[in-house]
Amino acid sequence: ASYRRITETDETIKAFLTLNEENARREADNLDKQLQEGGERGLLFGLPAGVKDNIVTEGLLTTCASQFLSNYNPIYDATTVSKLKSAQSVTIGKLNMDEFAMGGSNENSSYYPTRNPWNPEYVPGGSSGGSAASVAAGQVYFSLGSDTGGSIRQPAAYCGIVGLKPTYGLVSRFGLVAFASSLDQIGPLTKNVEDSAYVLQAIAGYDEKDSTSANVNIPDYTSALTGDVKGLRIGVPREYLGEGIDPQVKEAVMQALKTFESMGATWEEVSLPHTEYAIATYYLLASSEASSNLARFDGVRYGVRADNPDNLIDLYRKSRSQGFGPEVKRRIMLGTYALSSGYYDAYYLKAQKVRTLIKQDFDNVFNQYDIIIGPTAPTTAFKIGDQVGDPLTMYLNDICTIPVSLAGIPAISVPCGTADGMPIGLQIIGKAFDESTVLRAAHAFE
Ligand code: GLN
Repeated sequence: ASYRRITETDETIKAFLTLNEENARREADNLDKQLQEGGERGLLFGLPAGVKDNIVTEGLLTTCASQFLSNYNPIYDATTVSKLKSAQSVTIGKLNMDEFAMGGSNENSSYYPTRNPWNPEYVPGGSSGGSAASVAAGQVYFSLGSDTGGSIRQPAAYCGIVGLKPTYGLVSRFGLVAFASSLDQIGPLTKNVEDSAYVLQAIAGYDEKDSTSANVNIPDYTSALTGDVKGLRIGVPREYLGEGIDPQVKEAVMQALKTFESMGATWEEVSLPHTEYAIATYYLLASSEASSNLARFDGVRYGVRADNPDNLIDLYRKSRSQGFGPEVKRRIMLGTYALSSGYYDAYYLKAQKVRTLIKQDFDNVFNQYDIIIGPTAPTTAFKIGDQVGDPLTMYLNDICTIPVSLAGIPAISVPCGTADGMPIGLQIIGKAFDESTVLRAAHAFE
């Protein structure tokens, strides 16, 4: 059914980069056989899944939507992919994205842009745009995405589905092609909150192969879905509803708060005073980490090697010039500059300090409130082509998601209405490792 749906819809949506049909059919047959022989059903038994193309899959092309990795066939599975296999879900294929997860519209894919299933003239968001569109179009039951500054939550909002960015360290990054290692997290994109809880259950947990993996107890996330939010204290940051927020998005958030009130929760306006520095901080830190992480792509070890180099340095230069797209080059240059001697203190170190202030803003609010609510993005999806060539405007789309990433805390985007026919996302933010409360609130609301 999944492949039939892909055949019907993906010519327009273009969510997939690679299909895994032969293997998936074989795996599904094996699961059937195991069940008939009296085996137990895994947590995600037989569910068709899509995987973002920056999460490595053994023997299945993993391109990061880059020309550089157009021939990269990994020899191992990411931990999250192994965990999906243990839970008996079936990987249908690899999903389109902005190249190396840098972008917010999928237009930075070096292959083709994915389109929004609600209206193919619009972007699905990004960078996990393929992951969001494939779930919204009913091609897969759920997908995995990655979120560095909003890349699960924003496309989930634009495509009218549920997207969860877990606490940094909850889900293993082993086998996630690194963009900004101190921010990257893998998480589920699903049709509803209950599914999100199930997929999180399957992928969360300590992994010795990831040095930043947190050794914490994993609760039963579905048991948190009680429908009860009585007495829940909600903080609403004034910085997330001010200038630049579409009035229809703001109205939808206010309506959502009324719904929470009617269920017995309370809300008050709060302040996250360093929000205005979040975008600058993020683009310094994320680009710095990216410039370092992407140094491994040299034309020798991974991916495509340029033809006819004059010498070794020329091989690096040609391979990187040909392999990377413009946004990736922009970030590498920005990051290299910020890390260079003489500028390190002024830019990178300063940004690290501001990151701490941003985290403290959240800590202060969470002293008095259980969750924070605001919009996921300031607007709904925009038209394909509308923001191309204007990176600064594109960067501003992440104003509500980036501070959360810098603080390393969990947040979910759930649908909360539409504006001019396009979906709006409500962002629910929680304390570190308190995914249960985030899921409980989201589930009661949806
Ligand atoms: N849009 C942001 C960026 O371009 C976030 C991307 C992400 O979360 N991977 O960096």
